[in-house]
Amino acid sequence: MKNLVISDIHANFEALQTVLKSAGDYDSIWCLGDIVGYGPDPNGCIDLLKSLHNLTCIRGNHDVAIIGDMDTKLFNHDARSSIDWQRSQISSENLEYLMNLPEKVNFQNCILVHGSPRYPIWEYVLDPFVARANFDHFKEDYCFIGHSHHALICRWDPVKEKMDWNSQVNGHYHKMAPRMILNPGSVGQPRDNDPRASFGIFDDELMKWEVSRVEYPVHITQKRIADLNLPEKNGQRLAGGW
Ligand code: ZN
Repeated sequence: MKNLVISDIHANFEALQTVLKSAGDYDSIWCLGDIVGYGPDPNGCIDLLKSLHNLTCIRGNHDVAIIGDMDTKLFNHDARSSIDWQRSQISSENLEYLMNLPEKVNFQNCILVHGSPRYPIWEYVLDPFVARANFDHFKEDYCFIGHSHHALICRWDPVKEKMDWNSQVNGHYHKMAPRMILNPGSVGQPRDNDPRASFGIFDDELMKWEVSRVEYPVHITQKRIADLNLPEKNGQRLAGGW
């Protein structure tokens, strides 16, 4: 089966729609949280996800903030004001959808979490030390994460006690081998200076992982942000990928 793996959509409908159209054939979709936050279209993104077949979705820190389960003082000013606006916009059905998202999902040899297996909602896996500690917090061969908005392939070889950390992963196939932490990057707000939407395909028969990037009409999302008087920075950063 080919599994499309996406994360950190952040209410960017244009980016989500473009990824779903350009990802080619896939049998299922795994969404690793942060559907909402920052962008102009929280309802549009949730409605689109809900219409998809074979979707497995978990919650991220912004989803938790919207449903009111988290103190938004933990967020920076622009993130917080977007969350406040989104709370006022979100439909009751979509709020309920977010409320019902699990914190983690385990498949046979995979686990899906937003941040890290140790702290699923909040922890960022941004360096090999944090990654190493987290390999002790899941039993499966593969752990899929989002949250950092940076694509990542990180492999821990327990026999050689060796860590491979690779954040330059775009556009190449990577052979999967136990045990790995994998991040597909962000659909709606990439932060690696590449504004193109990022997504991953996990082929669980050939055991291959590929992260791809696709251009989407950034200017449309920016215009929506400006028209809605959301923080200017939320639009500016999309053009630069930061
Ligand atoms: Zn995020």
